[in-house]
Amino acid sequence: MSYKNTIGIIGVGHVGLPTVLGFAELGYNVIGVDEDKEKISNLLDGKPSIFEPKIVELLNKHLSTGLISFTDNLVKAVKSCEVLFVCVGTPQKENGEADLSQVERVAILIAQNINAYKLIVEKSTVPIKTSQWIKKCIEMHLANNEEFDIASNPEFLQEGKAMDNFFNPDRIVIGIESKKGERILREIYKPFKEKLFVTNLNTAEMIKHASNSFLALKISFINMVSDLCDATDADIHKVAKGIGMDPRIGPSFLDAGIGYGGYCLPKDLRAFAKIGDQYQVDFSLLKQVDQINERRIDILVSKVINALLKFDGKTIGILGLSFKPNTDDIREAPSLKIIHQLLEKGYLLRLYDPQAMDNIKQVIPSNSKVIFTSSPYEAAEQSNALLILTNWDEFITLDFSKIKLTMSSPVIIDGRNCLNPEEIKRLGLKYYSMGRS
Ligand code: NAD
Repeated sequence: MSYKNTIGIIGVGHVGLPTVLGFAELGYNVIGVDEDKEKISNLLDGKPSIFEPKIVELLNKHLSTGLISFTDNLVKAVKSCEVLFVCVGTPQKENGEADLSQVERVAILIAQNINAYKLIVEKSTVPIKTSQWIKKCIEMHLANNEEFDIASNPEFLQEGKAMDNFFNPDRIVIGIESKKGERILREIYKPFKEKLFVTNLNTAEMIKHASNSFLALKISFINMVSDLCDATDADIHKVAKGIGMDPRIGPSFLDAGIGYGGYCLPKDLRAFAKIGDQYQVDFSLLKQVDQINERRIDILVSKVINALLKFDGKTIGILGLSFKPNTDDIREAPSLKIIHQLLEKGYLLRLYDPQAMDNIKQVIPSNSKVIFTSSPYEAAEQSNALLILTNWDEFITLDFSKIKLTMSSPVIIDGRNCLNPEEIKRLGLKYYSMGRS
């Protein structure tokens, strides 16, 4: 631990909170700031607003060590910290562009309350040239002649693995154009010095967008191939394994299924496509990636309709609502679109997720068509089909012979290809998956 001052983290959501806890675990003093007063009060009580492995333990550990504190007073944090990491949201606007209003509000507040040198580190995912725009925005509102620098330090964490990613980063990208700012960030990230990749501001921002778009492209590519596998009796698992053995391609992000979701890939891909439009660079490839991903929902729903043959008020159990396992995040989760389509078609739904039930209850109204259940077995009861929409480990080890006994018709539709087809079929259940049928 070499950096001695308190580090400020602005926005303690899915990115900001793991960052607070990661820096504290490295031994730094950290203050987390958020305008959401309820979130702050819960954090001070040791209750995180998100589900992530290791978060509760680290939060309570460092509330005890005194290395962390939380406040809803951004001015206080600005005045007491030299380095401020900005981790606020950059949601998607209706036209696909990134909405930078949260970033702008923070920049203005920093400018108006600057009392000494500040290093403002942009961690949120933002369009290329945003750091330069933040610099101008701060200059425009600067209360006095204090110096400041801007850095870009895009976040690459994967929800569900946020703390592991913090302590074992593939790379830490830093865009910086001042020697002083670079020296401070090198000090803070000293424990990971081999992983540092230092470049200029625009390049750092480009790396983040290009990475997420490439990951989305890989998923849509394998999903497109999986549809052809369905049509030709090839097996997408083996195809993915076979192509992933080529080191030029690599085995990861080749899981066929119902597509990507969450707060990053969908919005970041669309924002990148918009940036392409802005500079007259043809990014139609990315628009195709998005469309292929959107079609996954229709493909899954067609599989349900085909599997159930005819419709007469049938009941469907759904296992998995979060956009991926080990998180309670349902932002842009494929499950939401699938639920809406199935409800429109008149099906009755029995929903279950190990962590996302509270979040889903806020967006799907409880009525006679939707039952929120408290176990995967309860979701399966009286169902004509059981859908798996998130590959939680808990679902892989279920007792499917027990499930079969309680279902009205024994049909499993595995939207994540996470079960073993032979084992499920041996138990006498009908099994459908994506690209392995
Ligand atoms: P989030 O919604 O979980 O958290 C954002 C937080 O910022 C919220 O708690 C909100 O209350 C707070 N906030 C907003 N305006 C504020 C202000 N003016 N002052 C103080 N607090 C304010 O969002 P997130 O998932 O943590 O994402 C944050 C950024 O990081 C986004 O740009 C996102 O694209 C990027 N990112 C997210 C992930 C991910 O997996 N979620 C991964 C990499 C990058």
